Amino acid sequence: MIKLGLMGGTFNPIHNGHLMCARIALEALDLDEVLFLPDGEPPHKAGDSLASGVSRLNMTALAVWGQPRFACSDMEITRAGTTYTVDTLTELKKARPDAALYYIIGSDTLYQIVNWRRARDVARLCSLIVIPRPRNQEDMDALRRQAERLKETLGFDIHLAPESGPDLSSTAIRALAAEGGATGDYTPQPVADYIAQHGLYGAPPHQMTCQLSRTLSPHRLSHTLSVAETAVFLAARFGENPCQAHLAGMLHDCAKGLDAPTLLQLIRSGGISADEVELSMPALLHAPAGAALARQQYHVTDAAVLSAIRWHTTGRKNMTRLEKIIYLADMIEPERADFPGLTDIRAEAMVDLDKAVAMAAARSAEYVLERGKKLHPRTMELAREDSPCV
Ligand code: FE
Ligand code: FE
Repeated sequence: MIKLGLMGGTFNPIHNGHLMCARIALEALDLDEVLFLPDGEPPHKAGDSLASGVSRLNMTALAVWGQPRFACSDMEITRAGTTYTVDTLTELKKARPDAALYYIIGSDTLYQIVNWRRARDVARLCSLIVIPRPRNQEDMDALRRQAERLKETLGFDIHLAPESGPDLSSTAIRALAAEGGATGDYTPQPVADYIAQHGLYGAPPHQMTCQLSRTLSPHRLSHTLSVAETAVFLAARFGENPCQAHLAGMLHDCAKGLDAPTLLQLIRSGGISADEVELSMPALLHAPAGAALARQQYHVTDAAVLSAIRWHTTGRKNMTRLEKIIYLADMIEPERADFPGLTDIRAEAMVDLDKAVAMAAARSAEYVLERGKKLHPRTMELAREDSPCV
């Protein structure tokens, strides 16, 4: 049977302390994996300083990416209403019948768990791994007594971890972010960048956001941030690299707003091949030009990111998963003005990336043709995968 560790929390934001606690639990109980579960609407801790569920999930995805045996799930943030652990455990038991569940908690929680909704069911569904606070702050005898009490009264299976967690708090990191401080000492760098780029917790504008704001309108900049956010969300859901998704989302429209001669010059100087149809349609030029600009002015060298920028407008056949994510994020980001079929595309994007891309292309084709404009053959080809009669 697989031993699956679960790390629930607000993760507002996730920090190195959370990761260290998960690592302690992983090693102490020889777990196969730890799944991080940012909570949706927590019964406690709500307030002004709480970042959105998507932002907290995205930061978690960025934090665990590339960490062996760590993963994250959007299960709690996508569930409507208040988050209760018992619901999550019930759902996970169904989805992973082969897994023994180990819920990782801090020692404070061990004193509150009697108040949890359906605590007896929680005890039946999982074991607990308790990470003590730093040694000088923890009364270990009291903690052992509390564990014994919970075993006797509610039937909990409780393991006290042999190591303490570090003394780090999300509150302190939020305060540091608000002052424009470098949060990267306390949280993985991609999370620190995300906080700054999205201005979370009152963080002052990040250098990349400032650079973009010189050429993009406020509306376009807001769309850009929303695409980047949606792209990370989709990357987390479909197992794609969230760091690449974020960067590609941030820069997908970086050349938007430049005039046609500048765009053509960028395409030429960047050695990007653009076909005749593209070259004749100014609205399409910002995609190939954007790839050149991202390389020249934003110093992006990652070919996968540049390619996602390059193909974000027309799409193409056999797109990489990252290209599909950017294409789709551009279309379904929450600020996008409503159009017929948008709700269906958004719903499909949670389930099947290929199907959602084909639906988005079909909608795009309809829109262009309805207005009597020229449709790029690549979009036409993509759209046919959804409705063969387009
Ligand atoms: Fe665009
Ligand atoms: Fe866009």
